Amino acid sequence: PPAVAATGVSKVYGSGDAAVRALHEVSVGFARGAFTAIMGPSGSGKSTLMHCLAGLDTVTAGRIVLGDAEITGMGDRQLTMLRRDRVGFVFQAFNLLPTLTAEQNILLPLELAGRKPDRAWLDQVVDVVGLRDRLGHRPSELSGGQQQRVACARALVARPEVIFADEPTGNLDSRAGAEVLGFLRASVREMGRTIVMVTHDPVAASYADRVVFLRDGVITSELLRPTPDAVL
Ligand code: ADP
Ligand code: ADP
Repeated sequence: PPAVAATGVSKVYGSGDAAVRALHEVSVGFARGAFTAIMGPSGSGKSTLMHCLAGLDTVTAGRIVLGDAEITGMGDRQLTMLRRDRVGFVFQAFNLLPTLTAEQNILLPLELAGRKPDRAWLDQVVDVVGLRDRLGHRPSELSGGQQQRVACARALVARPEVIFADEPTGNLDSRAGAEVLGFLRASVREMGRTIVMVTHDPVAASYADRVVFLRDGVITSELLRPTPDAVL
């Protein structure tokens, strides 16, 4: 089974004359151990789909299954636990805590879940992300690219079933963006993670194994092993 899947998912914001149909009967699965990009023009429903898949938002119709759990129908408390224990997030704005060091930020999800860090795993995460000599630094002492790599390591450290990344390179120059994307790809290849990334950047999407295209709340096409030219 896929790591996370939507079946017949529709999402309507508001009601009556003000209703906005953001997703229309979307069915899509995201394979375990794969890096998938969701692309589409602004307003096509990318963020809404990601938020529904990740249990950040509820669907109007249809089902979302994450791992062995049907999350549609879960209450707020269950969804909060699901996000804490089984999902990792990387956002465009790095969302690090400014008073904590890089290492403390990375370890935060484990701390919140009351779990002990697995040293060998933490070492692997830190090495793959290339932050060994920056662990004691606060976010303000790190470049944007380094901050986003800390955020990626934080998303990874609790070994979530799926990592959701929303425009992870949106605030980075192309070199820093390439480092972050290289790390995301390495975490899939070398660490067996599953990533679903929303982006409008064809170069970013070309790092993925598969690209799913959305338009007006509908999946219009897919591409396997994308190149930047093919994505454009
Ligand atoms: P994308 O991420 O592709 O830019 P979104 O998922 O953010 O698209 O938005 C899809 C549509 O839903 C857009 O028309 C957007 O304006 C609308 N939308 C998104 N979030 C909300 C919300 N909280 N309330 C009302 N409309 C929303
Ligand atoms: P996008 O991916 O289109 O750039 P953002 O990530 O900037 O969207 O959206 C930020 C937040 O605003 C999201 O939680 C989204 O659901 C919400 N949002 C987007 N469009 C609208 C809208 N038209 N009305 C209310 N909230 C919206």
